[in-house]
Amino acid sequence: MRITDVHGYALSSPIEPVQERRFHGGRRRLLKRDVVLVTVETADGERGVAPAGASSSAMREYFEGESQGTFADVIENQVADALEGETIENVTDAHDRIGSTDLPGRMQTQAASAVDVALYDVLGKRAAAPIYDLLVDRFEDAPEPTTNLPLYASAGMYMDPEGYAEQATFVEEAGFVGYKYRPGIGPEADRETINLVTDAVDKTEIMLDAHTWWKLRKPYGDEIVTDLVSYAARRGVYWVEEPVAPDDYSGYEQLAEIGAPLAGGESEPSPEGLISLAKTGAVSYLQGDVRHHRGFTGCTSAIEFCRGRDIQFVPHNFGTWLGLLANAHLVAAGPDVKLVEYPVFEDDPLVDALGDPGMYPFDLAFDIIEGEPAVKNGHLSVPDAPGLGVEVNLDVVDEYPYIEGPWTEFEYAQ
Ligand SMILES: [Mg+2]
Repeated sequence: MRITDVHGYALSSPIEPVQERRFHGGRRRLLKRDVVLVTVETADGERGVAPAGASSSAMREYFEGESQGTFADVIENQVADALEGETIENVTDAHDRIGSTDLPGRMQTQAASAVDVALYDVLGKRAAAPIYDLLVDRFEDAPEPTTNLPLYASAGMYMDPEGYAEQATFVEEAGFVGYKYRPGIGPEADRETINLVTDAVDKTEIMLDAHTWWKLRKPYGDEIVTDLVSYAARRGVYWVEEPVAPDDYSGYEQLAEIGAPLAGGESEPSPEGLISLAKTGAVSYLQGDVRHHRGFTGCTSAIEFCRGRDIQFVPHNFGTWLGLLANAHLVAAGPDVKLVEYPVFEDDPLVDALGDPGMYPFDLAFDIIEGEPAVKNGHLSVPDAPGLGVEVNLDVVDEYPYIEGPWTEFEYAQ
């Protein structure tokens, strides 16, 4: 195919009024959520789309001054220059072209991730097949795709212990198979939350995303982290995610020795990084993401690595419904891959419960596509229309202009 146009649109969904959450040793302000939408057009008039520039627990946009606006500019300039006018035979040819730019390695990976997804969207449309049907062929002896996928709800950030417990009940009522929350409100309160949340649910699995513990200005320290992780394991949680910094493999290994189920991978810089983490044997759940780990191509290699090993690939998915559907195609096709993360934002029209378990407003997450994903009783039916199976609502480009600056700010007590 010949690529004619490549675009990257940085968009922002304001959180109004700005929210302030207290965590252990400080406060965090939530100002907006950013999204980058990437489109790739071909000489045959096809257009592929991709969610891009998703943030991860490393929060480089805050701690390292990176910006989604910069990433969209990179797509518009260096990446467009490398691809426009080029004829490619395979999706990986586009990766190679991006790899020959002088962009930093991690930026190349991010760009290749978006372009990979957009090109698969094109290929699916061209073949009149959903992406999961194309992906199945990438695995050896793969079973038929599974298109009715269980979702776990991802919510809960810096609340009172009782607030998390209440949210867990709403999530259970809405039919999700799991409830993941973000602790970090202090060792004692985190421990109390583990008690309240595990007591609050009947059959819903509980996951802790401890992505803040290692980012605290005054971290809990090894002893407290070990204590909390082993306590959570004794209370039967499904996993503890990122209890230590992403590159602290020995920390993961030491915690795995106490028998706790661990999850990680979202901040790995590449699919090779995912496989390195998996090789430690310390994580039970490997969290690759088509938006971070070289798209479908990169994530299928990580899934292939997990096959036959004691580790399950469960994609990291935090952002819009477009990102949800992209990762869902991967799960539908991936052998032994079953579970999808469903971030819950305020006023989510697909969540049917007496109360609202949404974390904060993120209207763009819903508005970015036409229509709604088919979610019922905590399960997603992956669309079988060609490509990603959804139309992007391009009106969002005008409706959600990019707002400069980081999406969140940390303020530490002295
Ligand atoms: Mg996480």
